Amino acid sequence: MPRKIVAYKALPSDIEAYLRSHADVMNVDPQDRAAFVAALKDADGAIGASVKVSSDMIDGATKLKVLSTISVGFDQFDVADLTRRGIVLTHTPDVLTESTADTVFALILASARRVVELAEWVKDGHWQASIGESCFGVEVQGKTLGIVGLGRIGGAVARRAALGFRMNVLYTNRSPNEQAEKEYGAKRVELDELLAQSDFVCLQVPLTSETRGLIGANELKKMKQGAILINASRGPTVDEAALIEALKNGTIRGAGLDVFEQEPLPVDSPLLAMKNVVALPHIGSATQETRHAMARNAAENLIAALDGTLEQNIVNRDVLVR
Ligand code: NAP
Repeated sequence: MPRKIVAYKALPSDIEAYLRSHADVMNVDPQDRAAFVAALKDADGAIGASVKVSSDMIDGATKLKVLSTISVGFDQFDVADLTRRGIVLTHTPDVLTESTADTVFALILASARRVVELAEWVKDGHWQASIGESCFGVEVQGKTLGIVGLGRIGGAVARRAALGFRMNVLYTNRSPNEQAEKEYGAKRVELDELLAQSDFVCLQVPLTSETRGLIGANELKKMKQGAILINASRGPTVDEAALIEALKNGTIRGAGLDVFEQEPLPVDSPLLAMKNVVALPHIGSATQETRHAMARNAAENLIAALDGTLEQNIVNRDVLVR
């Protein structure tokens, strides 16, 4: 019997052909939840992204051995439950690190120099004379960048900041990142100190029960009044209502956001009416090259895991030693 794979995201044609050379592939639209759940019941593996795969959706999926997410973040899954069921979860770290760090830096520069706001101002025909102070932004070079979660992506952001923009880098992690300390002069501090000292606070932690709501009203109050918050991790790491209040009240200068509590961001979100907010549609890793590399990586993870030969990119390694 050929193996069956559920693809719940559109894949590049060469990646789909690769999967089809190893298994029967069933394409499903995850918006059709009933069809998705029914397909999982008959599958050995599944590949996709950006959709919550909850425990009840895989009840009765007795053949299911591998879930392959086309992302580094795996907050869409209950990892402990998958481990209990003996299902391997694989993800795609590293291939997206540099493009996501570019997005973070794009948000830093766009927020500091008001790039989006002023580009719209020009398009709206307001540039009638040489600009004055009302169009000035704030400097990035030489400032202090606080990275909350300095791992793979945080490290690539720290490299850009320290070597490209001569910034001072502070960070919080549960364990030290010696490479970033040595190569970029990054200094590990408590969150309160990071918030008090940084001109840019950049979140790059995974979304977990510990990091949900990590930045709320109290933390925003601890930031400098002229500071900018950058979030390209996951929306719920920041209390969005508290952020909206802080931006309205001038508690902080602005925000550059790639992720939101609810995605797509509702059209009536107050964030969309704020000039001091740069909002992107979750494009962290979204270049043609990186998205293709992620799809290939996830497809290869899936087939190797089904073959029992995968040695890296496994989220719940303990499932293999039962
Ligand atoms: P990573 O290498 O695992 O880095 C995460 C860092 O966060 C680690 O340094 C970790 O250090 C730290 N951390 C974890 N829990 C923490 C906590 N409770 N308090 C403080 N620090 C904590 O992951 P990555 O590859 O850099 O990716 C990070 C996240 O970025 C992903 O999980 C994903 O959600 C997000 N992301 C978003 C996009 C996008 O499109 N916007 C794209 C890619 C990734 P310790 O373990 O020492 O604490």
